[in-house]
Amino acid sequence: MSFTSLGLSGFFQRALDELGYETPTAVQSQAIPAVLEGRDVLAAAETGSGKTAAFVLPLLETLLNHPGLRSNQVAALVLVPTRELAVQVEQAIQAYTAYYPRRVKTLAVYGGVSINVQMQAMRGGCDLMVATPGRLLDLIEKNAINLNQVQHLVLDEADRMLDLGFADELQQVVNLLPTQRQNLLFSATFPQEVDALIDRLLFNPVCIEI
Ligand code: AMP
Repeated sequence: MSFTSLGLSGFFQRALDELGYETPTAVQSQAIPAVLEGRDVLAAAETGSGKTAAFVLPLLETLLNHPGLRSNQVAALVLVPTRELAVQVEQAIQAYTAYYPRRVKTLAVYGGVSINVQMQAMRGGCDLMVATPGRLLDLIEKNAINLNQVQHLVLDEADRMLDLGFADELQQVVNLLPTQRQNLLFSATFPQEVDALIDRLLFNPVCIEI
């Protein structure tokens, strides 16, 4: 099976060939078509399953036809629990967009580094943002980021996000999003708190267990 047969454009296949991805992983072959259809997705997926490409690739495909963004606005938001994961997802996005046919603006925002640099980087908007919840809220408070145009939300490692005590921040972010949007949730484990989050966030999701 190829990535193009899942509905992705050929320019992705070229980048993935260079990265040595020969075939989609199980989570990728199930998630990519569902995300492209605009469905909400719930995936039980651990690190190493290829979960990053499972949401990044179809979101980038969808964003191809997205109109230009105004300053401070975000089209797709990926929430992650840690700075390390934010950097890792951002690097994956850079690699997957090697042959993207237009300029795509991506940004990773996380704590522990200067907020001013991140504020400046937000001018002109962001197609695909990767963020830790706390720093994202700081940037919103400073009017550097506006979430009212977000059409796609991803919660990556939702279980770790709750373990690290981000439940309140997460809810604050969700409260700022438009109600009409696509939601994707990835988690390795499903304790009660994650189930409650799923009930609140996902609408009729495609469920993927691998
Ligand atoms: P992830 O689970 O997203 O953290 O990905 C784990 C590792 O698998 C990363 O190093 C990816 O670059 C790699 N990877 C993801 N998808 C594929 C694939 N289809 N074929 C080969 N390697 C992959």
